[in-house]
Amino acid sequence: MREALSYDDVLLVPKYSTIQSRADVDIGNRLDDEVYFDLPIIASPMDTVSEERMATTLARAGGLAIIHRYNTVATQSAMVHSVFKELDYHATLGAAVGATGDFAERTRVLIDSGATIICIDVAHGHHRLLERAIKVLRDEHGDLIHLMAGNVATREGMEALVDWGVDSVRVGIGGGSICSTRLQTGHGVPGLQSLLDCSSSDRDTTIIADGGIKNSGDIVKALAAGADFVMVGSLLAGTNQAPGKIMSTSKGKFKVYRGMASREAQESWRGKSSAPEGVAGLVSYKGDARDVLNDLKGGIASGFSYSGAHNINELWSKAEFIRQTYGGQRESATRILELK
Ligand code: IMP
Repeated sequence: MREALSYDDVLLVPKYSTIQSRADVDIGNRLDDEVYFDLPIIASPMDTVSEERMATTLARAGGLAIIHRYNTVATQSAMVHSVFKELDYHATLGAAVGATGDFAERTRVLIDSGATIICIDVAHGHHRLLERAIKVLRDEHGDLIHLMAGNVATREGMEALVDWGVDSVRVGIGGGSICSTRLQTGHGVPGLQSLLDCSSSDRDTTIIADGGIKNSGDIVKALAAGADFVMVGSLLAGTNQAPGKIMSTSKGKFKVYRGMASREAQESWRGKSSAPEGVAGLVSYKGDARDVLNDLKGGIASGFSYSGAHNINELWSKAEFIRQTYGGQRESATRILELK
């Protein structure tokens, strides 16, 4: 049986560096031939993460948010529209659709509202329904849109999606912080392994590492393992720009963060729930998403510097992973007494 690695199982070995400051590092990347982002971070299409405020904030920070699809077509397209009003330049906006039901109509309306990136957002992307949905959207819109799709966990899955016609692939099944897919179904692949497998393919596509990214160190590991971008939910949940109210309790301030397949989310978007594959709960209130993004950006740039890399291409050629033991994992974590 093959062993599969996750972020905490590995570290990157520090390398000789000529980088004088983090400003000498370019952490940006291309999503496709036309679109470049300064920040390789994409906010997840979830109803406790990405609506208009998060989309505006990510666009201004140089990244991208995919506006979620758990609403009416009119509501979602109004969100896309309002980001354009809000921004005084021609932003690249992304929005999610499903692979069945109203997805073709939804895509049409979203494109009319200004979205140029359409994310076909399904839990198990290596699936005939996704193949069909990609064909429908490509037949209707040709290369007018950037098609992002997923999720897949294997190289075979990623190659299938590329052959079916997508421009970028969300890689990662079962690793999300609110995900219970592995517990419910016994299926999944540790996140870093999926990236190592997918990036060994010779297919030309953009890889988005999705799920289980806990800090900027994990972002650097994901990029070094071959991802072009990372998609994050929990890192941005709990900020001012995430939808939902701040709850003040005796233990501090919190906001709700929930998996889109959780019982709670299913009940609110389709009035019933079955076989939940996600959980709902509270995350600590984190303040302004711009501060969170700035810290992540600094951490990623420092990470590039430790590998001696000025940009993502240098990171891919210079990065060297080592596995760490359980003792190494304990040594890697901060561990002083927290005084409260
Ligand atoms: P996080 O960054 O670890 O919080 O993971 C966010 C990712 O989890 C999203 O981008 C989705 O790919 C995935 N996800 C969202 N909702 C669910 C769910 O209910 N079950 C399983 N995975 C989910």
